Amino acid sequence: MRKYVIMGVQGSGKGTQAKLLASDLDLVHISVGDIYRWHVQYHTKIGAQVRRAMTAGELVDDALTESVVHDRLALHDWSYGFVLDGFPRNRRQAEFFMERYDVDAVIHLDLPDSEVRRRVLARRLCAGCGLDYNLIEHRPAKEGRCDACGGELVSREDDTEEALAVRLADYHRLTDPVLELFRAKEQVVTVDARPAKAAIQRTIRDHLNLPQRRRAT
Ligand code: ADP
Ligand code: ZN
Repeated sequence: MRKYVIMGVQGSGKGTQAKLLASDLDLVHISVGDIYRWHVQYHTKIGAQVRRAMTAGELVDDALTESVVHDRLALHDWSYGFVLDGFPRNRRQAEFFMERYDVDAVIHLDLPDSEVRRRVLARRLCAGCGLDYNLIEHRPAKEGRCDACGGELVSREDDTEEALAVRLADYHRLTDPVLELFRAKEQVVTVDARPAKAAIQRTIRDHLNLPQRRRAT
């Protein structure tokens, strides 16, 4: 059983690294942002509650987020472990989490703010299949269209200059302290998030003494 929390500022590649880690180790990738985006897309009751905060780049209510994470982990579909992405993001959530769960390590992807703006504003998502693009590194063959399904490439609703400024300021004010709390209790592995995806994944696995991926990505 392997249990990890992955943390990092917006655009640090948390989701990408979590997926790479989870896929061949049979871990479940649990992304709070993805769960909320799913609710917004399918117009659920939770979707209606979180939409305004998400669009503005603000954190969703703690009690709701804690129950979402609690219910998700209570499914126990993670017999080989999980990579939790996007939680905890403030002191209260960290206390909630640490009282109930323990993890093998916290993976911290480190990226300077200047690089965050450049990356996040170039981020695109396929409206059809959800594949990620980045107009800097991963350009589609045909502008504005998904290589896999031909769907339209759109920006995430919260990837605007204004929402990003809010998220970045919140991150440093609220989420930086979480890392300090974790440092007192868990192993925290800090990895430079600037190199290529595959190199970052190799570094993470080196630090965690995990087998390397069989094929390069
Ligand atoms: P990012 O890391 O770029 O902010 P995420 O996909 O992790 O993107 O989260 C998107 C949005 O979902 C956040 O801006 C916030 O509104 C909501 N959210 C995600 N995780 C949490 C959390 N732990 N607590 C409150 N809101 C959250
Ligand atoms: Zn697509």
